[in-house]
Amino acid sequence: MKRVLVIGGGLAGLSAAVYLSKNKFRVTLLEASPKVGGRVYSFIDEKTNTEIDNGQHILMGCYTDTLNFLRVIDAYKYLKIQKNLEVNYLSHEGISFKLKATQFPFPFNLLYALFSFKRLDVNEKFSLIKLFLKINFIESENLYGLNVIEWLKKEKQSDNSIKIFWEIISIGALNTSTEKASAKIFCDILKEIFWKDNTSFSIIVPALPLSKVFCEPSIESIKRNGGEVRLSEKVIGVEIEDMKIKKVITDKNIYEDFDFVISAVPYFASEKFIDKKFLDKQPEFHYSSILNIHLWIKQNFLSEDFYAFIDSELHWLFNKKTHWNIVISNADKFMQMSKDEIINFILTELKKFIPVSDDILSYKIIKEKRATFIPDNSILNNRPSTETKIKNIFIAGDWVDTKLPATIESAVRSGRLAAEKIVNQM
Ligand SMILES: Cc1cc2nc3c(=O)[nH]c(=O)nc-3n(C[C@H](O)[C@H](O)[C@H](O)COP(=O)(O)OP(=O)(O)OC[C@H]3O[C@@H](n4cnc5c(N)ncnc54)[C@H](O)[C@@H]3O)c2cc1C
Repeated sequence: MKRVLVIGGGLAGLSAAVYLSKNKFRVTLLEASPKVGGRVYSFIDEKTNTEIDNGQHILMGCYTDTLNFLRVIDAYKYLKIQKNLEVNYLSHEGISFKLKATQFPFPFNLLYALFSFKRLDVNEKFSLIKLFLKINFIESENLYGLNVIEWLKKEKQSDNSIKIFWEIISIGALNTSTEKASAKIFCDILKEIFWKDNTSFSIIVPALPLSKVFCEPSIESIKRNGGEVRLSEKVIGVEIEDMKIKKVITDKNIYEDFDFVISAVPYFASEKFIDKKFLDKQPEFHYSSILNIHLWIKQNFLSEDFYAFIDSELHWLFNKKTHWNIVISNADKFMQMSKDEIINFILTELKKFIPVSDDILSYKIIKEKRATFIPDNSILNNRPSTETKIKNIFIAGDWVDTKLPATIESAVRSGRLAAEKIVNQM
C-alpha cells in the first residue's frame, strides 16, 4: 500500500486525505493546530455554552465538489438546502423584502424573481435582466483588466442596482471591494451560480455547527479507511534530493517512509518549507478580512434564516435561533478596532434596520485577518497549479489555480485534484 503524507488539515487537506484513503492509500494527515478544519470550524463559547462557528459559511448549489465530498463523508444530511432561491433583505426604513424565485421552469423562475424585485425601477430591472441574460454568452477572457465596478457601469447598471443587487453578490463571493475584484472572476462565478442548472443558485447553509458538518465526519471517514490524523504536529522543513522529496520534518518526527506528499497549507505557510522556485508560478497574494459578530439578544423576533443588509457596512445576519451571527466581509478596517468600538458600531448600525436594545445578553467577536486572498486582476493568471517541479509533491489549497475565488469549493476541489494526480500515477 502506497503511503501519502498530507500536510494541513483544512478542507483542501481533508478532501485530499478522504479521497486517497477511500482509494486504498495509506494516509497520514499532519495538522499544526490541535483541530482540523483550518478556516472552517466551530467551538464552544464559554460565556453562553453555545457551539458557534468561527464564521458563518454558506455554500451554493454549484459547489459540486463540496457537495460530493459531503456525501462521501456522510455529512450531506447536515445541510439545509433552499428549494428555490430566496433572499430576504433589510433596508434602512425597517422594511424587509425578498428576492424569490418561483416554481416556473429555469430560467423563467429567476427572471420572474428579478422582475418582481421591489427596489428597482422598470429601467433598472430591464438593464439587470439584459445583463443577466447576456452573462452566459460573455467571453470572460475579454474582461481582463476590468474590475467589477467598471464592468457593471459599462453594462449600464445603475448605482442603485449595483448597490442593492450586484454589490451584495460580489462582496459576498469575492470578499473584496468592487474596485479591487476582477470582472473576469466575477463573471465566471455568475455563470456558475446562475447558468449551470436549476439547482446551482440554491443557497445552502450548514444545519449544524461547522466542525460537526465538515471536521468530525472527515476524521471518521479517514480513520475508517485506515488513515491517521496527527494533530498539533507542525511541518517545519523538507529535504529534497534529485527533485524528489525524501524527508518531511515536523516539530515531533522525521518522516522518510512515504511515497507522495500533498502540501495543503496556505501559500504564506507553504513558503516556509517549499521553496517558491519549485512552483510553476510565484504569485504575490494579498489578503482580505472577514468579521463575525455573534450576538445574544433577549428576544429573537426575526423569523427567516438569514437576511442581507442593503446600503450598510453590515452584510448578512444569520438567525441561529439562540443568537444572531452578523457577517462583515471585506472587513480590514475593523481589524484594528477594539471589542467595544466594534460592538458599539454594530449596535448603532443594526438599529437603523431593526429594533434592538443596547441591553444585550452576550457577544463574541471573531476577526479572521487573512480570510481569503483578493481575486484582483494581478492574481488571475498567476496562481500555481497542483503539480510542482518536485516529482512526488503536489499542492492544494484555495489559492491553487482552480479558477475559483478563495472558497470552500476551491479548497475541496484543489484537494481532490491533487489526490487524483497521485491516483492516476498508479
Ligand atoms: C470567516 C470566514 C468566512 C468564510 N466564508 C465562506 C463562505 O461563506 N463560503 C465559502 O465557500 N468560503 C468561505 N470562506 C473561505 C473558506 O473558509 C476557505 O477558502 C477554505 O476553508 C480554505 O481551506 P484551505 O484548506 O485551503 O486552507 P485552510 O483552511 O487555511 O487550512 C490550512 C491548514 O493548514 C494548517 N497548517 C498551516 N501550516 C502548517 C504546517 N506547517 N504544518 C501542518 N499544518 C499546517 C493550518 O493550521 C490549517 O488547518 C470563509 C473564510 C473565513 C475565514
